[in-house]
Amino acid sequence: MKAWILNPPFSKEMIKEGRCEQEVSLFQTNYPPFTMGYLAAIIRTKYDVEIIDSIAEKHSKKYICDKINLEKPKFVFVNTTTPTFDSDIDLVKNFLNLSKKTKFYIYGVHASYFSKSMKLGNRVNFIIGEPEKKAFELIGKQNVDFKDFPFPAWNLIDLMKYKIALKNKPFLIVQTSRGCPYSCSFCTAPFYYGKKYRKRDVKNVIEEIKYVKSLGVNDILFYSEIFTFDQNYVMEICREIIKQKIKISWMCNSRVDTVNLKLLKLMKKAGCWLISYGIESSNQELLNISKKNYNCELAKVAILMTKKAKILSIGHFILGLSGETKKSIKSTILYSKKIGLDFAFYYNATPFPGSDLYEEKKDEIISNWQNFEYGNNITNSKLDLNKFQSYAYRSFYINFFRIPTIYKLINVLGVNQIPNIANAGVRSLLKLRKF
Ligand code: SF4
Repeated sequence: MKAWILNPPFSKEMIKEGRCEQEVSLFQTNYPPFTMGYLAAIIRTKYDVEIIDSIAEKHSKKYICDKINLEKPKFVFVNTTTPTFDSDIDLVKNFLNLSKKTKFYIYGVHASYFSKSMKLGNRVNFIIGEPEKKAFELIGKQNVDFKDFPFPAWNLIDLMKYKIALKNKPFLIVQTSRGCPYSCSFCTAPFYYGKKYRKRDVKNVIEEIKYVKSLGVNDILFYSEIFTFDQNYVMEICREIIKQKIKISWMCNSRVDTVNLKLLKLMKKAGCWLISYGIESSNQELLNISKKNYNCELAKVAILMTKKAKILSIGHFILGLSGETKKSIKSTILYSKKIGLDFAFYYNATPFPGSDLYEEKKDEIISNWQNFEYGNNITNSKLDLNKFQSYAYRSFYINFFRIPTIYKLINVLGVNQIPNIANAGVRSLLKLRKF
C-alpha cells in the first residue's frame, strides 16, 4: 500500500523544520528533510513509502495533483509552516476531491498550535507535537522514544538537491537531541519539542554518521535546539569521531553561554568548521525581557574563542523584540559588525504561533500567515523594521569581499573551495538586492 511524505510545492525556497520556518537566505540552502526522512523510515516497515520534497524538486501544484489522482495513496503526511500554511491547506482541499479515500496527517508547529480549532472533515488530522508519534501508531507501535528512532530514510531522496552554499557539496542532517529547557519568547521550540532535553546515545550518533558517510556524503549539519547544551556529550561525540578517524566536516548551532575554548578546539579537531549562534541583541534588558537570559558580554567572548579555534561563526540577530527602540536596534547592528562574526543574519521579530511572542502580540498582528516571514513587518510596530533590516544586511556584507574575510574563508574551507566561495558570494550579493 502506498504512502506519501509530502513537502508541498511553494513559490519560494523554504526551510521547514520545527522552529525553523523561513525562506532560504544569503549563504543558505534548503535543508535535507530529516523529519520526512524519519517518517519514511518508520512507515516503510509496513507501507510502500515515497518522500516527495516538492520545494526541492520544484514541482508545480498541478504536477502533484495529477500524481495523487493517479496513485491514490492510503495516507499522506503533509509538512507545513506558518507562511506556507494557507497554500498547503488549499492543496489538501484539492487532494480531498482527487483521492476520495486518502487520509491526511498535517504536521508542523502551526498545525500543532491550531489543531483543535481546525476542521477539514474526518480524513484530515492535524497532529499535535512531533509527527513521528503518529507514524509509529500507524505501524502499530506506541511510545517510541526519540533516541530509538530509525535513521532517516535518506536513500529515498535525491541527495544532490541539498548542497552547502559555500562548498557546493551535498550535506545531510543528523539530529542529536530534541527539546529546549530555555523559554525565549520568540521561539517555538519549547512548545513543539517540549522543554525536556532528550539526547541520543553517542554510539547511535556515531553509527548514523557512518551511515551518512556510506551514502557518499562527508558534510553534516548537527541539528539540535542547542547542540552544545550538554558539553560533556559533545566532547564524547568529538572524541569518538577523532578516535575512530572518521573524516567528516560539520556545522552546528549553539548558545554563546554553552561553549568554552577547550570544547571549541576539540570540535575543530573533530571536523567542525561553522557554528551558528543565536545572539539576538546587544542589549541586556532586551535579552532579559525576551527571556534569552544570557550575559550579553558573553557573545563577544564566544565569537573570539570560536575564531581562536579556527571555526567560522554566524550570528543571528532579532530586530524589534519587546522593549526595542531605534537606539537599541542601531547599537545591535553596530555590535554585530564589531565582534568578529563571519556571517550575520537579521530577522524582524516575528510572533509565530506557538511562541510567547505570539500570545503577547496577537492583537497587534496586521499581516496574514503568508507574510509571516522574518523580512516583513508583522505587527503594527512603530519601528520600520524592514528599513533597519536592509541597512543591517547591506552594512554587514559590504565588507564581505574584503581580503581578510576571503582569506579566512579560504583558510578554513581550503584553497580548492575558492570557486565555490566566489560563486556563493556572487549569488548572495544578488540576493542582497532585495534588502
Ligand atoms: S535557546 Fe531559546 S532560541 Fe534556542 S532553541 Fe531554546 S528557546 Fe529556542
